[in-house]
Amino acid sequence: MFIDTHCHIDSYERHAGESFDALLARLRDPATAASGLALPEAFIHVACDPADFDRARELSEKYPNVYAAYGIHPEYVDTETPEDEARMLEMLRHPKCVACGEFGLDYHYDPESRPRQVALFERHLQLALTSGKPIVLHLREADDDALAVLRSADLRGKNVHVHCFTGTPKFAEALLALDANIYIGFTGIITFKNAQNVRDAAALVPQDRLLLETDSPYMAPIPYRGKPCHSGHIPFIADKLAEVKGKPVEEIYRLCRENTRRCYGI
Ligand SMILES: [Zn+2]
Repeated sequence: MFIDTHCHIDSYERHAGESFDALLARLRDPATAASGLALPEAFIHVACDPADFDRARELSEKYPNVYAAYGIHPEYVDTETPEDEARMLEMLRHPKCVACGEFGLDYHYDPESRPRQVALFERHLQLALTSGKPIVLHLREADDDALAVLRSADLRGKNVHVHCFTGTPKFAEALLALDANIYIGFTGIITFKNAQNVRDAAALVPQDRLLLETDSPYMAPIPYRGKPCHSGHIPFIADKLAEVKGKPVEEIYRLCRENTRRCYGI
């Protein structure tokens, strides 16, 4: 049993041209198991564009095993409004909402937006902390600034999922050293040939801090790389994580399921 702790179901539908219902039917088909795909027990659907908040609420109300997280991605640094933040806070009170996020820093594009991203990250972190919800962070190529913001916040006792980890082992160590319950999520990237840094980071993450996620529809694991990623791809990520940790894959599933319970309460 496993939960995909981070996926974007609506983006998958748009990107793959397959409805969530059709995907579920496909994953339930007995022939699917033979292909190595598997149906998750539950999904954490992440809405990080205010335009998608309503759809997230609908999905979480329609499917008992779809939970939602609401946040504003750093790519909206120049377009998000006080109304968006007010709606996010409202969504965070929904009974199927399990987290605030993803938000954070993404320095891969547009270097000029960095100072504005930092200011937004600081504000959203405070909003998230006030909400009392677990926090989902998107941190990409912004290690020093991310650590500076996180170190200056009071994260004691907070559950924080650093999602789709793509950094170095040193960055993972610095995150884990924060005074918070840091969980690190691994996606299909861990299977990529050129991602030895991610495997090295996974090797040093304690077993009680690992999470399985797809970030669907992005980052499909090998042998599906380049195709739309969906939650049924988790076994390929779990297998690689098992190899990296030198543990049976059943143990990885058991640990990650338990970690999901501790981090998200589901
Ligand atoms: Zn995401």
